[in-house]
Amino acid sequence: MTLLALGCATTVTACAPTQSATTQTTPTPAVTPTPTATPTPSPTRTGPPAFTSKVSKVTRDQLRYSWRPGCPVGLDDLRLVTLTYWGFDDKAHTGELVVHEDVTDDIESVFKRLYAWRFPIYKMELVDKYKGDDFDSIEANNTSAFNCRAATGSSSWSKHAYGLAIDINPRENPYVSADGSVAHKNARKFADRPVDAAGVINPGDRVVRLFASKGWEWGGYWSGTKDYQHFSKGGG
Ligand SMILES: [Zn+2]
Repeated sequence: MTLLALGCATTVTACAPTQSATTQTTPTPAVTPTPTATPTPSPTRTGPPAFTSKVSKVTRDQLRYSWRPGCPVGLDDLRLVTLTYWGFDDKAHTGELVVHEDVTDDIESVFKRLYAWRFPIYKMELVDKYKGDDFDSIEANNTSAFNCRAATGSSSWSKHAYGLAIDINPRENPYVSADGSVAHKNARKFADRPVDAAGVINPGDRVVRLFASKGWEWGGYWSGTKDYQHFSKGGG
């Protein structure tokens, strides 16, 4: 008792009874409810993002090199599909494909599944990034679809010129001529099938079956020339 009293005598503020503070209690009620304090849940914080895809119209500017008057499809028939794909770096990426408007559902559905499988795709840019040059796009291992060009080694339109064909990982899935030659050096080690490597498409595998379920045929089944990167709606 006495000790306490002594302490209080020296430090007034510390020992001041609560009554002295009562005057402060009235003006400071809960004025600020601060709703920002509630934590916003972030479901994708730990895992990769969910697959998304978006279909939009294309402009002449976007297809400056891959489309020109005289192509077998008009710009109005083509669509840009922006979608999520799984990369060789084990990360999600956003890619762009131009296809015919009739097959955007096929493409969205197929690539949603490929993403779920984590089937890796090296790169997915419009061929216009390569000034419409198919060789350069393939050399860069680019996955692409529409390109208003003739079929390789032919004077007739390729299915790519209709937006009804797609080439996937052209390095891992090369175009092999009937004599076994491969134009792109970086793809030669992938000339035979089956190959057990990332991003490869093999006869009868789930990628081939997935495309087939939507009516897309695989160039790996052609006789003579094999185009392992190539899928086209209805064949060809
Ligand atoms: Zn092709």
